Amino acid sequence: MPGLMPVVFVGHGSPMNAVQQNEFTESLKKLGRRLPEPKAVLVISAHWETEGTRVTDGAELKQIYDFSGFPASLSRLKYSPPGAPALAERITHLGNSGQIIPDRNRGLDHGAWTVLHHLYSDADIPTIQLSLDTRLTEEGHFSLGRLLLPLRKEGVLILGSGNMVHNLNDIAMDQYVQPYDWAHFCDEALKNSLDCQDDDRLLKYGDLDRSLIRRMAPTTEHFLPLLYITALRAKLEPLTYFHQGFQHGSISMRSFVVGN
Ligand code: ZN
Repeated sequence: MPGLMPVVFVGHGSPMNAVQQNEFTESLKKLGRRLPEPKAVLVISAHWETEGTRVTDGAELKQIYDFSGFPASLSRLKYSPPGAPALAERITHLGNSGQIIPDRNRGLDHGAWTVLHHLYSDADIPTIQLSLDTRLTEEGHFSLGRLLLPLRKEGVLILGSGNMVHNLNDIAMDQYVQPYDWAHFCDEALKNSLDCQDDDRLLKYGDLDRSLIRRMAPTTEHFLPLLYITALRAKLEPLTYFHQGFQHGSISMRSFVVGN
C-alpha cells in the first residue's frame, strides 16, 4: 500500500542466531537492505511480558542478556540503539488513558536484538519495544495491534518477534534436524490461515485441535506477536515469506513481510 511502512513478523528461534551465519540470518540481512529506511522501529517481542501494556521510553535502550547457558560469544555481541521517547509518548496516546504505560528502565530483550543486529547492524535506528499484556485474550492482543496502524503512515517499522510453532520441551539438540511431523503440520495450518487472510482462524491457532495447540504453543508468548502483525495488514495486502523452515525440530522459523 503506498505510503504505508511494511510490517514484519520474524521467527527468531535460538539466541545463537545472533552470532551465526545461516539461511535465516542471511534472509534478515537481505530484508534489511530491501526495506525502506524506517524513522524508527517498534518491536513486539515474545520476551517481554507484563501486567498491562508497556512501552520503552528511555533515550537509549540497554541490551538485556535474558538467557543463560549460551557461549560467551553471545554476551560479547553489543547492540544498543537509541530509544525514541517522543514516539513512545505518541504510542501511549493511541490507547485509552492508562492502557499503554511508559517504562523508562526497560531495555531491549534478545527477541529484539538478535534480530535487529542482522536487520540494522549499525544500531543507529531509534528503537522501542511494546510489551505483551499477560491479562489480554488473543482478541485483546489483536485489537491492540490495530491501534498501532497510524504508525505505518509515519515511517515506523513494526516488527513482531516470536515463533509460530515453539515447543522447548520437545526440542532436538541438533539445530538443523528435520522438523517433527506435528510441528510441520501446525506450521502449515497457520500458513494456510495467513494465506487466506483468515484472521478468525488465526486467532484460534489455525483451528487445530486442542492437543496440537498445546503442543505447538505450550505457552503463548511466542505466538502472540504474530497477532499484532496480522492486525496491521490491510485487506488483500501482499504477504511474502522471506524465510521458512525449522530449528531444533520444534521451532518454526517462518518469517514474513507485509507490504514489501
Ligand atoms: Zn524466543
